Amino acid sequence: MKIENLYQKFIESGKVSTDTRQITSGSIFFALKGDKFNANEFAEEALKKGASYSVIDEEKYNTNERCLLVDDVLNTLQKLARYHRDQLRIPVIGLTGSNGKTTSKELVNAVLSKKFKTYATRGNLNNHIGVPLTLLAIDKSVEIAVVEMGANHLGEIALLSSIANPTHGFITNIGKAHIGTFGGFENIIKGKSELYQHLLLTGGQVFINSQNEILARLAKQFTTPILYPQKGDYYHAQLLSADPIVKVLAENGEEITTNLIGAYNFENIAAALCIGKFFGVDAQLANRAIAEYVPSNMRSQVVRKNSNAIILDAYNANPSSMQAAIENIAAMNVPKKVLILGDMFELEDEAAKEHQEIGRLIKEKGFEQVYLCGALFKTALHEIPKAKYFAKKDELIDELKTFPIKDATILVKASRGIGLETIVDYL
Ligand code: ATP
Ligand code: MG
Repeated sequence: MKIENLYQKFIESGKVSTDTRQITSGSIFFALKGDKFNANEFAEEALKKGASYSVIDEEKYNTNERCLLVDDVLNTLQKLARYHRDQLRIPVIGLTGSNGKTTSKELVNAVLSKKFKTYATRGNLNNHIGVPLTLLAIDKSVEIAVVEMGANHLGEIALLSSIANPTHGFITNIGKAHIGTFGGFENIIKGKSELYQHLLLTGGQVFINSQNEILARLAKQFTTPILYPQKGDYYHAQLLSADPIVKVLAENGEEITTNLIGAYNFENIAAALCIGKFFGVDAQLANRAIAEYVPSNMRSQVVRKNSNAIILDAYNANPSSMQAAIENIAAMNVPKKVLILGDMFELEDEAAKEHQEIGRLIKEKGFEQVYLCGALFKTALHEIPKAKYFAKKDELIDELKTFPIKDATILVKASRGIGLETIVDYL
């Protein structure tokens, strides 16, 4: 089926869906395949639940005249998204990076929405399926879109860029996220800079965090990069404090008190203010957007419970965000600092080395108490003999029940798979 014909059907229905549990009436159902499922099997069910068409790629499920048989459902979804994106003719700001993508995306969106009708990636829909779904959700009234792009392999950002065709873009930072699946740090740099390659080839505008050495080096390829946040850059701002709430001095001299914690959030804020300036958002309104933004669940929140202040950062973890979080609490001016950390996943061959490096950092910074949870941290125990180690989360919970922590500032951080947030009930 020609993409133009499918697009006609999309324009009539206005919506797509990929999950039979969430079919909206009249939408086009895309029968994607995953490791454990083949949605071709649900094509008929989707139609019964109100889908206008089901796009499938296996002949044997072609049982209804409203089934549209294509070579490859995923590829068709991506092509449709690109086709739609081209019809929109609006600026699309693409962003990727090892850490802080969702936070930066939300901040950029908050700032731009003070002046424009915007659309930004919902939640974390940032992969080869999420990006097409994001684009297809943008309607004609939208003036600027902000699209988060995530990757754990080389080539993914190139693919996502070819779908979203960003006219503007930035990399939040480059660190050690998914280092195992990327195959080393050099490949992470290569992978993230696929966004830059796209912008170079298409004459797009890049915004660059000049404090980040790697990004500053990569910026040299561009003739007109827009830099932030240092003195002399296009947009200049300063981190005033982060103990733990982040306060920033904006370029217009206003002091912004945010709802964010962690000094690392400064670069996310600076990116948003820089982009706001570029698109002509009034500086005061932009600053207000930053001040009003409240992060979504488990991304660096402060939870006050009993006599403790808990820095709940259990949304995800990788070596660079773990390092940033540890350095952040270490720099805080509070009496009793405690770490409760769980394993970092997706590091493959690098796992032991990276956990040991975190162990050395913990030793260097010194903490009153350290609790480590998960099989991978076991390899780091020789670095911090004082640490209490728990192979399983339940054992950690038992310890916290028996010996409660009191009057402390506690960092709680681990990869999503550990689900470390549940321990907060015992703090
Ligand atoms: P994902 O890969 O899951 O999409 P993400 O890149 O979108 O993650 P966020 O969800 O914004 O990142 O933030 C997740 C965590 O990353 C935060 O809770 C914080 O610990 C850390 N983080 C956020 N910004 C930075 C930054 N600029 N530098 C280092 N770590 C950061
Ligand atoms: Mg994200």
